[in-house]
Amino acid sequence: MTANTVDFDASPNNLEPFWMPFTANRQFKKAPRLLVSAKDMHYQSHDGRTILDGTAGLWCVNAGHARKEIAEAVGAQLTKLDYAPAFQMGHPAAFQLSNTLTQMLPEFDHVFFANSGSEAVDTALKISLAYQRAIGQGARTRLLGRERGYHGVGFGGISVGGIVSNRKVFGPMLAGVDHLPHTHDLKRNAFVRGLPEHGAELADQLERIVALHDASTIAAVIVEPVAGSTGVLLPPKGYLQKLRAICDKYGILLIFDEVITGFGRLGASFATEYFGVVPDMITCAKGLTNGVIPMGAVFVRKGIYDAFMNAPENTIELFHGYTYSGNPAACAASLAVLDIYKRESLFERAAELAPYWEDAVHSLKGTKHVIDLRNLGLIGAIELEPREGKPTARAFEAFLGCYEKGVLIRTTGDIIALSPPLIVQKTHIDQIFDTIGKVLKAIN
Ligand code: PLP
Repeated sequence: MTANTVDFDASPNNLEPFWMPFTANRQFKKAPRLLVSAKDMHYQSHDGRTILDGTAGLWCVNAGHARKEIAEAVGAQLTKLDYAPAFQMGHPAAFQLSNTLTQMLPEFDHVFFANSGSEAVDTALKISLAYQRAIGQGARTRLLGRERGYHGVGFGGISVGGIVSNRKVFGPMLAGVDHLPHTHDLKRNAFVRGLPEHGAELADQLERIVALHDASTIAAVIVEPVAGSTGVLLPPKGYLQKLRAICDKYGILLIFDEVITGFGRLGASFATEYFGVVPDMITCAKGLTNGVIPMGAVFVRKGIYDAFMNAPENTIELFHGYTYSGNPAACAASLAVLDIYKRESLFERAAELAPYWEDAVHSLKGTKHVIDLRNLGLIGAIELEPREGKPTARAFEAFLGCYEKGVLIRTTGDIIALSPPLIVQKTHIDQIFDTIGKVLKAIN
């Protein structure tokens, strides 16, 4: 097997048994796109293509692909301690990682480990409910999310999430959930560079929801500081600050879902640092391990953990956890990647590159089909006019066209979302946008 080939027969029979997630299975299996190896900024496909990664995998490979330091740390951990029970037992790497993580965000003093963004979200929602009860606010059982929010695929996450196709066939969801309106407003904000000027007042809709249900019934509100999966929806200037103020006014916990914004994506450690707004909990995953071992985490702000510590010492304080919470190999991967982020100043690097990235995103203004361009940190979005009667078709064709020309982009609806590894070079940025521009000109 060489770097460019795979000892696997990609014929329909072999592809069939895998029920692929969030994928048009039949379409994919007719014309598969298999990635067989990766290094730094590039993938190699099963049919010999070199593909520039414009999406850090799925927003996760922030330090670039196949980092030797991570592989070595995971290998060393696996041969030393492969697995340790997660309940009523511990192992050093989980404690070490919790210390390292809480040092990154001084307002947060404890971390709960999960195995994905979805689990981190469900964990945060459950901690919210249990916390309110622990402080004598047990009537606060309502959870609020936002339209066009994505919080993974657990029942908690899809309940507070706001994507119709992720909800509609899965029954009634959690009871008592309500949603804020989304903040995407092309009429007022199209082609703005960085944060939109208009829309901070949409946070006041939280006042309307409080008036409808009463604050005494509301435990928490969860939002993505920057919504990624529904096409890079940026918070209008002042919006997150307003949400924080309203939550404070009514004793509602604020959760930032930082599964994509965590670990340098905006050119700061987390969005909380970038925006200067401190939520009560932060969920993260993806960049936590550079995507290499599944892991999610919830940061809780000072005081939350303490509220659970009043019962006798032999009491389990929170009846929640996973067999793989703080899995040793995941902890080793995370410690190694956090070290790379620091050693290579990758968050600062993202901040330095952001203006170049912004210019590159906006260089597509006037390109066929483009109705909006958005950017923040090393995130970019190109919104396309949907094809008449065939929503998503144009963007999917652009995705295929770029793949054929050696650039991996991600599409959601008719929006192209971009989020390269933070090690991206200017020449890579040029290649990404040149390719997209050419592909858009060539498609109908
Ligand atoms: N929350 C946000 C904001 C996400 O972007 C994602 C995944 O893209 C998730 C949660 C779910 O993470 P996972 O796919 O690891 O469960």
